[in-house]
Amino acid sequence: MGNVVYWKKIKGSDDRTVNMPFKTCGRCNKEFSSGNTYASKNCPECAKFIKNEKSRERVRRYREKNLLDNNTSLDKENEKGLNN
Ligand SMILES: [Zn+2]
Repeated sequence: MGNVVYWKKIKGSDDRTVNMPFKTCGRCNKEFSSGNTYASKNCPECAKFIKNEKSRERVRRYREKNLLDNNTSLDKENEKGLNN
């Protein structure tokens, strides 16, 4: 479901009816028609949200990794302390 393009007649600017490709957003189920209807799975708002989520996730992973590295070196320090 979702990812299907359907055409709808909508009123254009100068009172003409134009056929526009629409899609249902895979995230919020809202129908949308953006410049890239065929390529996008989500409405522009959700696309923006998902993009933010992804970069946040990347930052989180990066931080987690750094944290992990710090912990590892800390563990080594502790081991050293225990061995003494
Ligand atoms: Zn959406």
